[in-house]
Amino acid sequence: MMGQLSSGQDRLFYSFNLEDHIPANHLLRSIDRCLDLSDLRHYLADFYSPIGRPSIDPELMIRMLIVGYCYGIRSERRLCEEAHLNLAYRWFCRLSLEDEVPNHSTFSKNRHGRFRDSDLFRWLFNEVLRRCMGAGLVKGEGFAVDASIIKADASWQRGVPGDEPVNWSDPALSTRAVREYLEALDEEAEEYRCPAGNVLRSEWRAFKNERSHVTKANTIIFRSRQTDCANCPMKAKCCPNTTFRKIARSVHEAARDVARRIAATPEYVRSRHERKKVEMLFAHLKRILKLGRLRLRGMSGATDEFTLAAAVQNLRRLAKFTSQGPPVTG
Ligand code: SF4
Repeated sequence: MMGQLSSGQDRLFYSFNLEDHIPANHLLRSIDRCLDLSDLRHYLADFYSPIGRPSIDPELMIRMLIVGYCYGIRSERRLCEEAHLNLAYRWFCRLSLEDEVPNHSTFSKNRHGRFRDSDLFRWLFNEVLRRCMGAGLVKGEGFAVDASIIKADASWQRGVPGDEPVNWSDPALSTRAVREYLEALDEEAEEYRCPAGNVLRSEWRAFKNERSHVTKANTIIFRSRQTDCANCPMKAKCCPNTTFRKIARSVHEAARDVARRIAATPEYVRSRHERKKVEMLFAHLKRILKLGRLRLRGMSGATDEFTLAAAVQNLRRLAKFTSQGPPVTG
């Protein structure tokens, strides 16, 4: 017999417990077990007025932001809609079925105001890190550094056309550290030595007007002295069809040489191995947590976003680790 739904949606009273509807292995349950925000109110106490209308609970906003970064929901407007509809999100944010979800504009005000002034995201990052250390996830034996490009939320009105050349030799455009590094490279890149130990130079005589010697292909040609090659026993192999040896080097060759020298050291080999772990974290941030483009502008906006994303990434890892137990070794 074909059944028919009889209850409808117009009941006034429901017997409903949110707790019963969140699966035991749900990611947010594991994260909730690892998250301790009991000191949050105390930490923020100085940034709230003791009088006036009660604000939105900062713990609620932090929990919503964690949900957003955890599931790659970057828009605060969408985050509020999702928190309104999703039972697991409501449960994690300590919202009942009837509680109002804050307006999305509340996030903007707090993020740019008291959350930034109090460095709250750094506090959260440190709290999560402390718990990771307590769980044995951080050994502290070393660290690896890597970089990844994350697009800025740039304003199109303030853009610079792509074909407009940037003059990097302009001192105003380079920091002191970069300037010193480039000057040091310039000092080293003046000449090459051939296998016979003779010098190859880009310039063997002084010109009245100084020349850059940079070709259209962005290279500089280095030449040996004709007299050196004439009696050299290696000439038949080195430059059989010309009277001197000529090599083309990129204008960035000095920087490449420095990189090649570093790449040959055992420290570099080890750091390259360690760096893979950081690269995986960047890939996770960009692909799963959808941090391919920043939403907040300026350095402080980028710092806020990245600190929060890193805290959530550590939280996810800690939750996974504690729910599965430490890996079996040996
Ligand atoms: S032929 Fe010239 S460039 Fe080649 S090794 Fe001899 S001196 Fe050096």
